[in-house]
Amino acid sequence: MTRIFSGIKPTGHMTLGNYLGAVRQWVAADRTPDDALFCVVDLHALTVEHEPARVRRLSRQAATLLLAAGLEPQRCTLFVQSHVDEHTRLAYLLECTATDGELRRMIQYKEKAAKAQAAGDGVRLSLLTYPVLMAADILAYGAGEVPVGEDQRQHVELTRDLAVRFNQRYGHTFTVPKATHPAVAARVMDLQDPASKMGKSHENGSGIVYLLDEPGVVRKKVMRAVTDSGDDGVVYDREARPGVANLLDILGACTGGDPAALADGYSGYGALKRDVADAVVELLRPLQERHAELAADPAQVDKALREGAGRARELARPVVDRAYEAIGL
Ligand code: ADP
Repeated sequence: MTRIFSGIKPTGHMTLGNYLGAVRQWVAADRTPDDALFCVVDLHALTVEHEPARVRRLSRQAATLLLAAGLEPQRCTLFVQSHVDEHTRLAYLLECTATDGELRRMIQYKEKAAKAQAAGDGVRLSLLTYPVLMAADILAYGAGEVPVGEDQRQHVELTRDLAVRFNQRYGHTFTVPKATHPAVAARVMDLQDPASKMGKSHENGSGIVYLLDEPGVVRKKVMRAVTDSGDDGVVYDREARPGVANLLDILGACTGGDPAALADGYSGYGALKRDVADAVVELLRPLQERHAELAADPAQVDKALREGAGRARELARPVVDRAYEAIGL
């Protein structure tokens, strides 16, 4: 069976975008611990201004939420990136395979570097090399599939390029992975700014639904969502009506319906927003209940992460050792 790998950064509280774009696919994968690996990629949280204690707290919170969302330690390997040294060992070899030019072309690098510069923070070198570490995360496990949201497409393409290049130069070492995206809601947009993705690292949270938002907060955020002007009713048009299309995408992802077909059932934005709010509240309810139970027992979460790291190390070490040998070390 094709092995899958994916990760989430502890840079903020997990959002509805993270869940619909990525985490839900992970839960649905239903595999064994050897062929499904999910990682809280804490090293990636250090690429921008960070608070040490917050990263640690958010890492545990992310792991707790992933378990609450339905990842079961009997059916996948859940671990924290920095607990497994193989990631950084392999990243260096891949840095010797990647070029400066191809990393500077990454869209996320350009956006985040501009933001750091505007804030007067200086651009950390790791922000540039982050996609190489991400490639190492994936290639260390011989993963064939990477279930991610749309925004990670370019980084997975780079991972493929690096794997192919390494294999051509030094002999077959890595599986060449491909990204998989959900059919609906692969890119959930900010409710206040439908031109930007709903991202947990964004500071202004009023257009972002967090997985632990209480029902009243979810409702308020959805009811205040920016919609588009126009008098031709509710239509699904991502270009001309991005705000409404985003709400229809969220509703479709929550209820299993087709967003364009759902539009026909509404004559006004108010009813649509009420249904979106109800659907999101219902989607989050079981996850929040389970999160409350798990948060009361952090030892259980830590145990799952410790065991996960042990298993991940065993899977990654032979691959990374082989890469060291192939490259001439
Ligand atoms: P963020 O950008 O919120 O900090 P990460 O980079 O940690 O999130 O991404 C974790 C996963 O969530 C990735 O697979 C990413 O593609 C997915 N993801 C993040 N934001 C969204 C979104 N708005 N819509 C769909 N998927 C998303």
